[in-house]
Parts: sequence; structure tokens; C-alpha cells
Amino acid sequence: MNRRTFLKSIFSISACTGLCGFYDFAAAEDISRAVDEKDLKDYLHRMSNFDKSQPDDIILDKNELRLLKSSLNRLRRVQRTVGFGNFCVLSFDDAIKFGRNYSSIGRFTKQELDFLDNTFHFDAHDYGFYGEKPVTRLTASIKRKDLIKIPRTGNFLYRGDPHSKYLEIRKELGKQVYLTSGVRGVVKQFILFLSKAAANGGNLSLASRSLAPPGYSYHAVGDFDVGEKGLGAANFSASFAKTKTCSKLREHGYLQLRYPENNLLGVRFEPWHIKV
Ligand SMILES: [Zn+2]
Repeated sequence: MNRRTFLKSIFSISACTGLCGFYDFAAAEDISRAVDEKDLKDYLHRMSNFDKSQPDDIILDKNELRLLKSSLNRLRRVQRTVGFGNFCVLSFDDAIKFGRNYSSIGRFTKQELDFLDNTFHFDAHDYGFYGEKPVTRLTASIKRKDLIKIPRTGNFLYRGDPHSKYLEIRKELGKQVYLTSGVRGVVKQFILFLSKAAANGGNLSLASRSLAPPGYSYHAVGDFDVGEKGLGAANFSASFAKTKTCSKLREHGYLQLRYPENNLLGVRFEPWHIKV
């Protein structure tokens, strides 16, 4: 059984057990029993090498890669124009408007728009990503009045449960812990996902093992990431699992993870990601 067939069989089982969206250990055991042990071992081996290219990964051809890069560069120019914080919550329509109104960005071409549209509507299960898709509209927008800006982080959180949870974590764990990534709209998720793919020769499957494709990220609806001060970019790596902050998060019961270790959703272990 090749990886895609194997993952499809996992998905059909997980869809009925309700595994997607949260981790259910009983369901995971059912799945482990239902799939061949060797296939499961293969899958786990591939996931422990999530940042490497795998034999049946989906990789863009030369023309598509060129389009990916021009779309990505235009999105980067939008980000420079509107600022990092605002870009996190910018809608697709607004990104297009900025392109139209600022000559320093330039209009998105028809081909770029088609590329972004197709990428958004592509079924990520084919990449090997088995998470749910909480945002199904490319043009979904986020209301500013629902957000609160978190000082000195450049990030926003939704008012209500996500913000309360963040304050609670800071109160219990101290100021060493801080918000590393909050609300991310579709456009922000695009820039992250496409940057990862561009840095890896247009390998969309590889990108999806670290970053949810646009539409599939729970950052759009409330989840957020935390890190430990001083750790920088390593907050998004396995090193975070060894920090005091991470063990305290676990002790205090905050690690009800969206993507736990050895998850069957095709996503690397993310102990910094707080599910709301
Ligand atoms: Zn996250």
C-alpha cells in the first residue's frame, strides 16, 4: 500500500471515529489495529522525517513554481506595506485591493489569482494532511472588533476564550511565556505555507507536514502558539518540548494538543500550539 492509499484508509476510519480536529486515543488505537503494522511504522518514520522530501510528495512543476514565487513575492510586498500585525488578519479581498492601490505592490495577475484560488480549494488530504478545514471561503474576513492586540507581540487574539486562556497561562506560568503567533487569516496562512513550499522546491506535501494549508489552520478561529522568551525561532522546533515552559504547560493541563506526538493527521508534533 502506498502512503496516499494508506492515509486515505486512515482518513476514512478517522472520519467516522471523529478523530479529526481533536486527538482521541481510543480512536487512534482502533486505527492502529485497522491498518497494517508495517504501513503504520512507515507512516511514523516518514513523519519523524517530516522536513525531508518523501517519494510520493506532491511537488509543483517549473511553471507552477514560478507562479508560486510571483504570488508569494506579491504577498510579501503587501505584508511590508500593511505591517506584520495587520497582515496577520488581512482578508484576501483586502490584499487584492492593496495590490491595486499601491504601485509598490502591483496588481495580482489573473494567473496569480487563479493559482491562489486553486491552492486554497485543493483537497489537502492529497498532500497527506488530514486535519479539518475550519475556513472554507477564500474571501472569509475577520472582524476587527472581535480581536484584541497583544502588546509587544505583533499578534492578535480573539476576545473571549482565546484571550482569557492566554491571560490565564501568563498568570500561572509567568512572563517568560509569550504569544508567538495568534490569529492568522487565510492570507497570512498563505504566506507561511507558500514560503515553506518555495524553500523546498515547490514541495506542497512537505510544507503541509509543518504548516496547515490555507483554510486548514485553527489559528483562523482561535488557536494560538506560545513560546519561551529568549528561545526565538527555536520556539517552533523540537527544542521547545525541552523547555521549562513546555513542562509547565503540560503540568497545568494546557497541552490538550491539536497535533500531538505521533498523530495520524499528517502533521508534525506541535507542543507550542494551544487548542482553544
Ligand atoms: Zn499553531
